[in-house]
This record gives sequence, structure tokens and C-alpha cells, in this order.
Amino acid sequence: MKTIPCLVIGSGPAGYTAAIYTQRAGIDTIICEGPQPGGQLTTTTIIENFPGFAQGIDATTLMDSMKQQAIHLGAQVLPLSVTSVDFSSHPYQITLEDKSQLVAQTVIIATGASAKYLGLADEVKYQGMGVSACATCDGFFYRKKTVAVVGGGDTACEEASYLASLASKVYLIVRKPFMRASAVMQKRVTDNPKIEILYETNTVGLFGDNGVEGVTLVHKKGTPEEHQYQLPIDGFFLAIGHRPNSEIFQKWIDTDDMGYIITQGKTPLTNMPGIFAAGDVADPLYRQAVIAAASGAAAGIEAGKFLATLK
Ligand code: NDP
Repeated sequence: MKTIPCLVIGSGPAGYTAAIYTQRAGIDTIICEGPQPGGQLTTTTIIENFPGFAQGIDATTLMDSMKQQAIHLGAQVLPLSVTSVDFSSHPYQITLEDKSQLVAQTVIIATGASAKYLGLADEVKYQGMGVSACATCDGFFYRKKTVAVVGGGDTACEEASYLASLASKVYLIVRKPFMRASAVMQKRVTDNPKIEILYETNTVGLFGDNGVEGVTLVHKKGTPEEHQYQLPIDGFFLAIGHRPNSEIFQKWIDTDDMGYIITQGKTPLTNMPGIFAAGDVADPLYRQAVIAAASGAAAGIEAGKFLATLK
């Protein structure tokens, strides 16, 4: 089997930027697109915080441009997911969903993270039409509108506070009678007059003819006081956590207790030589496209350095 110099797993900003850098360094690179070509950004509409686009840019257009740039520089894009890896010896073995195998001298893991959803059919129905898992990405569209955020952790408090700076009203839907968020984050939301916290409340559905127009909630579910009601809202934000897509690597690659790949200092180096991690799979903090792209660049540079040591 032919050994390839570099395999990039994932096709978000981190993956494509990594491939742009490796190809420019003369390193033949294959990108496995994975189950969500273009990554998480493709679940949103307009990107207004990626530098270089004065009027913002359609997310799909942005990701397609990155893909075309990588291809233009010589990268090969496979519309496949990686199903398993064997990093027990170098070069590394990778198995794809069509059962084919690749052997790679360097691997850049850029598999991203997935926002957790409640699992309601309405979340799928209204995706991009009022349902979002990223306040920083989509909050701007809800200026002076009413939104709801689900979750009681630090992310939910952060997203609710951010949205309150734009929207006229923010409901924070918390399933328990208390929040899990740190005291300082809780204070931030309780002190904000625009945020109303709905404790002991579960979401059961969304409604609206042209996108989200309201949410159906149940208060005190499973108790004698249980009652269902509808609340008019314009946007529904999930903030119940993210799951880094690192499962298939965890046998070999060190992760933290949430599954984020641990990288060394400010570098994309993992605990395995020649294996690098970039983007949200290694970033529990920022989860921004521009930061993912930057870490992809770093991974591409490090892959080149590693390959030079093999010569
Ligand atoms: P967490 O896992 O801490 O919190 C998830 C929240 O979502 C919990 O309140 C949980 O409720 C709720 N939830 C989970 N599933 C459901 C569901 N099906 N229906 C309704 N609610 C649900 O995730 P976060 O993303 O908030 O935080 C992850 C980590 O990142 C934490 O360690 C956090 O401290 C950190 N972080 C820190 C920040 C900061 O310091 N600025 C900002 C953002 C994150 P329940 O409590 O009932 O389980």
C-alpha cells in the first residue's frame, strides 16, 4: 500500500487550512471530508466574523472556497469518513467507511466538535431557520428580538449574556431548579434585566410557519403541578454542551475528561509523533472558525517539520 505524506481528517476551517499549508510546502495531502463536509459552519447561514469579508459571507460559500483553494494547490479530497485508526506503529494506518485503507506518515486530526441537541424533530425542521447552537455565529440576526437559550451551564450563561447584548429579551430554559454554571456566570445572568430564567422547564417542541415563532415548554414535568405552555420567540439556541469528535482516536491520543485532544502548549502537537490536532476537537474554549483555521495552519507547518526529520 502506498504511504501518503499527510492525511487530514475533517473538512472544516482547520482541516482545509492545514491542507492549504501542507500542499504549499510540497506535501501531498489527502483530506477525508467526514460526515459533515465543510464542518459545523455549514449549519449556519451568514458568517460575519471571519475576517476578509466586509459584507459577511455565506457559510457554504466560505467552506467551498477553502475546499477549492486546497484542491487548487493539489490536495485530494475524499468524500468519506474515517471509521478507525491504528496508530500503534509508524506510518499510521487509517480505515475509511468504504473499508479502504490508507497509510500516512503524518495525520492532522481536524474532526471538530458537535453541539449537543435535545433530540427533537423540530430542531432539525428549523435548523438554520431559527435554531442555532452558536450565539456568537447567529446572535446578530436577533437584534431587538426575543430568543430562548437552553442549558444551565457556563456555556448557556455565556450565550444568554451575549444574546442579551443584542436581543430585547432572552429566556434561559433550565431543566433543574438550579443551574450548574459557576457562581460568577450565574450572577451575570441573574443580574441582567433582559434575561428571564425559567427553571424546572423542559422544551418539547417548536412552532412557526416561516421559521421559529415560538417554543412549547413543560414546567415541573412529572409532578402534580406539571403544565404545558407556549412562549413566542424568534430564535432558539442550544447551549447544552459540545462533544469533541475524538472517539476513534482516544485509544492512542491523550484527551481531557471531556474528550478534547490535549495538545502541547500553544502547538498542535499531540502525544504521538507525527499526529497533530487542530480546530474544535482540541479547543474547549473558543470554538471559532478563524481560530480553527489558524490552528490548522500551525498543524500544517508542524507536519512539514516532522516529515523533514524523517529524511
Ligand atoms: P455543561 O456540561 O457544563 O452544562 C450543560 C448544561 O446543559 C447543564 O446545565 C445541563 O443540565 C444542560 N443539559 C444537558 N442536556 C440537557 C437536555 N437534554 N435538556 C436540557 N438541558 C440539558 O456544558 P457547558 O457547555 O456549559 O460547559 C462545558 C465546560 O466548559 C464546563 O466545564 C464549563 O465550565 C466550561 N465553560 C467555561 C466557560 C467560562 O468559564 N467562561 C464558558 C463556557 C464553558 P443539568 O445541569 O441538569 O445536567
